[in-house]
Amino acid sequence: MMILSSHPSAWVLAAGLQELILLAGSDAYAAREASYWAENASLSPYCIVQPRTTNEVALVVKALSETDGPIGLRSGGVTQWAGSNDVKNGVTIDLGKLRDVTYNAQSKLASLQPGARWDEVYGELQNQGVCVTGGRIGNVGVGGFLTGCGNSFHSAQNGFGCDNVVNFEVVLGNATIVNANSTSHPDLWTALKGGSGNFGIVTRFDMFTFPATEIWGGNRISVRSEGEKLAQALVDFTNNNNKNPEDAFVIDHIFDPSSSPDVIVLQVIVDTHGVINASAFDDVRKIPAVVDDVQKRTLQDLADNERVPSRQQQVWFSLSFKNDIRVINKGAELHDQLVEELKALIPSSNFATECLFQPLPTIFTEHSIEKGGNVMGLDKVKENALIWLIAGASGTPEESAIMREKLSALTASFEQYAASEGLGNDLEWLNYADQTQNPLKSYGKENVDFIRKVAEKYDPAGVFQKKVVTGWKISKVSQ
Ligand SMILES: Cc1cc2nc3c(=O)[nH]c(=O)nc-3n(C[C@H](O)[C@H](O)[C@H](O)COP(=O)(O)OP(=O)(O)OC[C@H]3O[C@@H](n4cnc5c(N)ncnc54)[C@H](O)[C@@H]3O)c2cc1C
Repeated sequence: MMILSSHPSAWVLAAGLQELILLAGSDAYAAREASYWAENASLSPYCIVQPRTTNEVALVVKALSETDGPIGLRSGGVTQWAGSNDVKNGVTIDLGKLRDVTYNAQSKLASLQPGARWDEVYGELQNQGVCVTGGRIGNVGVGGFLTGCGNSFHSAQNGFGCDNVVNFEVVLGNATIVNANSTSHPDLWTALKGGSGNFGIVTRFDMFTFPATEIWGGNRISVRSEGEKLAQALVDFTNNNNKNPEDAFVIDHIFDPSSSPDVIVLQVIVDTHGVINASAFDDVRKIPAVVDDVQKRTLQDLADNERVPSRQQQVWFSLSFKNDIRVINKGAELHDQLVEELKALIPSSNFATECLFQPLPTIFTEHSIEKGGNVMGLDKVKENALIWLIAGASGTPEESAIMREKLSALTASFEQYAASEGLGNDLEWLNYADQTQNPLKSYGKENVDFIRKVAEKYDPAGVFQKKVVTGWKISKVSQ
């Protein structure tokens, strides 16, 4: 009894919220822990609390803020690092029951709750004839994607996902509910666009919409030897994305022996206006592909098609670079070496890796600025750039430790190479970064100071720094 009374779940019980609790040992608890995208992210908390309404989120925050924590917060539960969305020896607030998606035809705004997934969002909004600037992969959660900025197939037309949030409904650390938009708490509105879980729990995102259209898009797969031509095509595409903002393109060097014994180069190409054989991809489509499923389809169908299998041990690192072919070729070469080194350390059937390059042209940020700005600091970047992700999946924690060591070393040497060639860029993409990286700091001092000031203003007791411990914390960023 002594233990229970000091236990955070006792506070939730005392607040009369017992029907929201999933206790360890129950089937419902096991199902939620099994729903984390990365196996290593699930940390088996004492219990899970699942509020169903904004008011219940406020009651839970009030009850839990009286405890010593630690408290976790998850929306989709997709972030790959341990400690991003679940806690050991604590209580995790799980927003999985807050997943409504509605559309107001008068205001032309869509309202999304944080626990929804992007394929659900697209499906629901499609029924209303509209769409939003959201995730590219169907099973990614709304809450983490939008508070972490969110790179979308529609970013060259509309900016990042967060730039399209007109209003955030937020439960603050003192359990009050506020709306943050361009006229009410505008500093909080800006800070939430990339500032992640430092200020409160977002319970609703009101977003700009645009008419839903069929898109033309899908995957092509080419053999590794086409890598250099594809690298040039990505550099050219990125430099011309301002002229073809309806188009999106990424290339991904993948080693996954469950589908191919060799490294292959996946290309995702999308024309969001549904133009078949869109001219922006003329050069890409001249490069031979062994698989090509690019077709007319709905965005929901594409987002479903792009789902990445889950429940493995995951390690990810992310950097950004100038848009230069030397960077892509160097990354591909480092990835080839990595695969050979890993084969000597982990059975090939037990791991998969990918080395992903995606455009970060200045046109994205021009839209961000038009829509009020965010905190990523990209307004200072005057050249087209690339976001890079290296990811490694493996079967066991021991294999994952090897993967981490290798990916960390590769990232350090890639960064060093880029610095020596003058090809580096400061930004570490928060939604892809490893826990040993420092994406908030990469936003630059001015933005770090701003995020810190806003966090202190709206959460003076530091509930979202000291108690809700999951995710990226501004209090951990050094001056
Ligand atoms: C297969 C795959 C594809 C991806 N594709 C893309 C992509 O195309 N573009 C892109 O930008 N990213 C992409 N990501 C990264 C993804 O956006 C992040 O992992 C994101 O955090 C996932 O959202 P989530 O709701 O699942 O977050 P969770 O893992 O549930 O939460 C992570 C953190 O986000 C914060 N957070 C979550 N919800 C809230 C909330 N309601 N209020 C306040 N803070 C909150 C908290 O700090 C929390 O600790 C992808 C990831 C995967 C695994």
